[in-house]
Amino acid sequence: MTRKAAALISGGLDSLLAAKVILQQGIHVEGINFFTGFCVEGHTHAIRKQDQHKQKRNNALWVAEQLGIKLHIIDIVDEYKEVVINPRHGYGANLNPCLDCKIFMVQKAHEWIRKNGFDFLVTGEVIGQRPMSQRKFTMPIVAGESGAEDLLLRPLCAKNLAETRPELAGWVNREALYDFHGRSRKPQMALAKQFGYEDYAQPAGGCCFLTDTNYSVKLQDLWTHRGTKKYDLDDIMLLKVGRHIRPEPTFKLIISREEGETRFLSGYKNQFQTIKTISHGGPLAVVEGVALNADQIQLACAIIARFSKGKNAHQVELNYSTAGGTPTTIRVRPMPAHAIPQHWYLV
Ligand code: SF4
Repeated sequence: MTRKAAALISGGLDSLLAAKVILQQGIHVEGINFFTGFCVEGHTHAIRKQDQHKQKRNNALWVAEQLGIKLHIIDIVDEYKEVVINPRHGYGANLNPCLDCKIFMVQKAHEWIRKNGFDFLVTGEVIGQRPMSQRKFTMPIVAGESGAEDLLLRPLCAKNLAETRPELAGWVNREALYDFHGRSRKPQMALAKQFGYEDYAQPAGGCCFLTDTNYSVKLQDLWTHRGTKKYDLDDIMLLKVGRHIRPEPTFKLIISREEGETRFLSGYKNQFQTIKTISHGGPLAVVEGVALNADQIQLACAIIARFSKGKNAHQVELNYSTAGGTPTTIRVRPMPAHAIPQHWYLV
């Protein structure tokens, strides 16, 4: 009887290798990739011009294609909020709740295998690889609190851990698993070479924006000024783009830095107040917060004009619109760079 395993696929090298090791043992493997809204992958990669020479791809899909397995992409945006807002095990260096995140994803994957008649779960975790979520003492916490228990197999470091049910039952051969540990990537790179993989993703820091300091500063600012830790998908998408400036506690400007961001932000015209330079080439800004009064509109326009081609002009014209409303033309003198206090900039 062919045994069936579900492998958590982040798109990085470790999950690719873990799934490959199990596939090689004649197990039927299918991948699961969770969409949290904070993922670095996906459309936000395609917005900006930077790294344009690099091929844009969804690494989880790419990994599944390399492995020749089916990939299930599961949207967990709403359920995941509780993990980000109230992590039982706390945050890492930024607002990344890595241990709770791992537990939650394994728990969801465990529910999935039970529902779909699969035998066990596979992750690419390696002891000591990450300071918060992948340490010797966190491995049993993830297995226990997720409810997956001994159905969770980590092929890359299994020999450093107690035997799991797939090993004890002889579904997989423990001898053909690995004993990787520590932060070095060399063993994984050597194994990738052995399998003939060269073009794999090299994630810097983590698999999501929550490990990014600038992103975390913006998320914390959003929570602080709303007086609650709530967010929706648009909020966390908007934190990924533009220059964020908060001139007053009640509103923030998200100013596009390039054409791709202008196009992206213009998709929010019906939900937010927007301001666009018209007399000179320049950015589009989304206003997040209260409906602006006349003085605040003048202030916002003067700041935005500063980032237009008319920054040294005597006067710049901009269109201010309420959400989905008709534009009103505003004329301002651009604010000089030195007049914008540094603490207004969130990034
Ligand atoms: S980096 Fe993000 S996706 Fe990865 S474990 Fe941490 S919180 Fe979860």
